[in-house]
Amino acid sequence: MANLLWLEGQACSGNTMSFLTAEEPDVIDLLTQYGINLSWHPSLCLEAGIEVKKLLNDFITEKTPLDILVIEGAIARGPHGTGKYDVFCERPFKDWIAELSKVAGIVVAVGECASFGGIPASGINPTDATGVQFHKNEKGGFLGANFKSRAGLPVINISGCPAHPDWITQTLLAAALRPNDILLDDYHRPLDFYATTTHQGCTRNEYFEYKVGAEEFGCKEGCLSLNFGCKGFNTHSSCNRTLWNRQSSKTRAGVPCFGCTEPDFPTYNFFKTEKSGMIPKEHPFGVNKFAYLAHAATGKLAAPKRLKTKLIKGRE
Ligand code: SF4
Ligand code: SF4
Repeated sequence: MANLLWLEGQACSGNTMSFLTAEEPDVIDLLTQYGINLSWHPSLCLEAGIEVKKLLNDFITEKTPLDILVIEGAIARGPHGTGKYDVFCERPFKDWIAELSKVAGIVVAVGECASFGGIPASGINPTDATGVQFHKNEKGGFLGANFKSRAGLPVINISGCPAHPDWITQTLLAAALRPNDILLDDYHRPLDFYATTTHQGCTRNEYFEYKVGAEEFGCKEGCLSLNFGCKGFNTHSSCNRTLWNRQSSKTRAGVPCFGCTEPDFPTYNFFKTEKSGMIPKEHPFGVNKFAYLAHAATGKLAAPKRLKTKLIKGRE
């Protein structure tokens, strides 16, 4: 059995909520069929106070082997490096993480805040929050750029706000069974889920190509990047290939992709495309401004009439 410990720092528990809705595999199957023992989770287990402290110390002294350490939420380092903005079981949370990560077989950061700092590390960052092994785009974070767990792996980041439920259970399953087969991108995200973008699989791709923009929030037709700030083309996720609740995604529901899996989240005007004159400031796939202009102009000129008709029908 692989012992899995889930701890929560500066977080909203959104990734726990997401985890509970997983379907392939679901949480019950994950914990009963695949040899994972949930040693403790702040929302799902009964132990509290002194019992949890003992359990954590048993891991640190290696009386109990810690196979998988899952961290949800950012790590508070303030004030002045003490970590006292987030105290857990009578110690700064960060001190528990520093010791537990030394004995953990694999360390997994679940969600945007644990992966890159997310919301707590944004703006003026009053708690000096950071991600477990990244601070936004920069490698380092709390454990440092060179950290490797006992299995010889860096922190595995399942980014997202929250991460998709199945990305979580499938990564934990792989971590328990075949950790060395998990291939990661430059931000330590499993390539199985983050190699492609939200744009791939979006039902609005044809509108994107011909630059036919959605006209209102929540509408059925039109691309959401022209007016409503969709950044699906630069966001690594499988949201439009592995649908949420097997039903939908933000863009399918007429909501722009916010880029919640990227290290710079949230630095974006969620519902409005930032423009310089008439041109969106962010260009798809990193193409330069002139290439974008040429593509957009050609696309607009060639836009088939049926797309406009569909757009009008979508309003009804
Ligand atoms: S709505 Fe977003 S993800 Fe969909 S085609 Fe437009 S830019 Fe791409
Ligand atoms: S569509 Fe974009 S913002 Fe929404 S969950 Fe997926 S990556 Fe995050």
